[in-house]
Amino acid sequence: NQYDRVYNFSAGPSMLPVPVLERCRDEMLNYNGTGMSVMEMSHRSKPFIAISKRAETLLREVMEIPENYKVLFMQGGASLQFAALPINLRCNGAADYVRSGNFSTIASKEAAKFIKVNIAGSSEATAFDHTPLQEELTLDPQADYVHICMNNTIYGTKFPYIPKTGKVPLVADISSCILSEPIDVSRFGVLYAGVQKNLAPAGMAIVIIRDDLLHEPAAETPLMLNYKLMADKDSMYNTPNCWSIYVTMLVLEYLQSIGGVDEMARRNKKKADLLYGFLDESAFYIAGARPDCRSMMNVIFRTDSPDLDAKFVAGAAERGLLTLKGHRVLGGMRASIYNNMPYEGVELLVDYMRAFEKENG
Ligand code: PLP
Repeated sequence: NQYDRVYNFSAGPSMLPVPVLERCRDEMLNYNGTGMSVMEMSHRSKPFIAISKRAETLLREVMEIPENYKVLFMQGGASLQFAALPINLRCNGAADYVRSGNFSTIASKEAAKFIKVNIAGSSEATAFDHTPLQEELTLDPQADYVHICMNNTIYGTKFPYIPKTGKVPLVADISSCILSEPIDVSRFGVLYAGVQKNLAPAGMAIVIIRDDLLHEPAAETPLMLNYKLMADKDSMYNTPNCWSIYVTMLVLEYLQSIGGVDEMARRNKKKADLLYGFLDESAFYIAGARPDCRSMMNVIFRTDSPDLDAKFVAGAAERGLLTLKGHRVLGGMRASIYNNMPYEGVELLVDYMRAFEKENG
């Protein structure tokens, strides 16, 4: 291909669309006649405020975010939100957390520094091979919120349903599935995501929060973690992550140009079906996640031998199929096939898997 690009199956940061990277390059020295790049631009300048507004407007359009929700661009990635959530949503002083993998467990432990945490469900006993079902959840009607991680990046699972939580606001980490398929925002109190998988460079989180949940947090709350302040200041209390906001705008423009989230979901399903379909037919590879809650974004598999797994990963890299090594807690392989992984990348992966099986099976 034109730029000698590889297929990068990394769990994040991950691939961006070539037209977006080309625009970054073209606009690097002179953004839209301003004579400077977005990196060099004041966040209070008219051109940058327009970029930030447009990024928000586009996100609202493509995700169909209702009017009574605020969109915040926060720094510190998704991990900083693990603390921001209990600090800002604390009322009665207790929250329900569902443990479905690594990040939801970290989120629950971080929250426990600020609020009483009840583990409302967990799939830890079966090594997080699935997301807990509704009937497996023990929810407290007095909880300030219920927290889930929608797509479990390391274990390759995804909630196949949206938990019903009654009047208690549902909060979801959608870092590794944002914009991958339609989501009914109105079912949630808060949605949040680090942007480095489906949107933009790392270091920023998008927080989508229902208006009525925004209230003045405790006096000791750090300024940078205060949702109300960030909402009042249009996410510009301090110098924001300008570059990430700019790339978010470009990726959303691109997404809209190809047909929005519906079209993206169709493409993602086609990629995931190809890969899981092959895994299900093969007697050589073992798929990691339980079939009823498989992730469309992170596909976990292995052979029956760690040595073969290592050989597989090395051979893939020689073919330009990169970063297929599984997370260290699971071993084996993980193919992250986020929004911007082209279908051809998954085709090449499956071709290679077939050849590797023939040779080693
Ligand atoms: N939540 C999920 C589901 C993730 O996949 C990740 C990162 O991979 C995080 C949270 C942490 O995100 P960040 O690195 O932006 O803090």
